[in-house]
Amino acid sequence: MQTLGKLMAVAIAFGGLAAPAWARELTNAQRDAAIAFMLNNTRHTLLHEIGHLFVDQFELPVLGREEDAVDNFATLTMLAEGTPESLQALIDTVDGWIYSEQQTTRRRYSNSDFYGMHSLDIQRSFAMACLMVAHDYDRFTWFATRVGLPHNRQESCEEDLRLTGYGWESVLKPHVRAGQTANSQVSVVYRSHDPAYRDIAAILKQNLVLENTADWLRKTYVLPRPVRLTAEECGQVNAFYDPTTREVILCYEWADYFYELFISDIMDIREHFAEMRKLKLEKLDR
Ligand SMILES: [Zn+2]
Repeated sequence: MQTLGKLMAVAIAFGGLAAPAWARELTNAQRDAAIAFMLNNTRHTLLHEIGHLFVDQFELPVLGREEDAVDNFATLTMLAEGTPESLQALIDTVDGWIYSEQQTTRRRYSNSDFYGMHSLDIQRSFAMACLMVAHDYDRFTWFATRVGLPHNRQESCEEDLRLTGYGWESVLKPHVRAGQTANSQVSVVYRSHDPAYRDIAAILKQNLVLENTADWLRKTYVLPRPVRLTAEECGQVNAFYDPTTREVILCYEWADYFYELFISDIMDIREHFAEMRKLKLEKLDR
């Protein structure tokens, strides 16, 4: 698999000259698509971690598994944003979980997959698709069907959306900013040690991933104490909320994982379907 770190390092080392064959496997369009996929998955992850931050900082009651609840928070927030970009980001995040599940089944399940705090990746993908189709049936029924959610379940997802939407709205209501002038203190930090992740850090910075999330957080909620959004190398593929430092931590390894996942497992399939759609449209035009 090609990592972004390796690819960018080669581009820099060759100073704009033709890169070696293994690094030229991706066209610019493919590389851009992989970066967009990575950024979209990263945005959902940041919101998931902010869900944990809210549970801690607002001392929210959690009925059921916290990991599922904060996944729902991230999905609801992106649905509420409702821009073409945020809706595409949701599609990319569902695909991210579907394809990471396939990697898990290749290594086979272990008990830790079942006793862990998180639902299985495939369950996380279905739960997201369920809220999406309930939010906008006309827009997402094709997608929910494509990921394998049958129509009778798509219909009952309305109740899932109603319950989780009501739950989050109720507990967050007292903390929503309503005209107060003082902004919540949300700082952003990029820590960079290993040069292998310098380029991932640069892409996250260029796209203002942490900055835009921090901005939204400041403008939308009144936080009781200062918090921090950090991107750094963690030594593992993960993202965290650390209650001792009140810090959401996005690991560069996490972003890199989704970049690689797109190239290794998703890119060819998406290109194939785009080609099929093009042929179909050409046929209709004739
Ligand atoms: Zn979590």
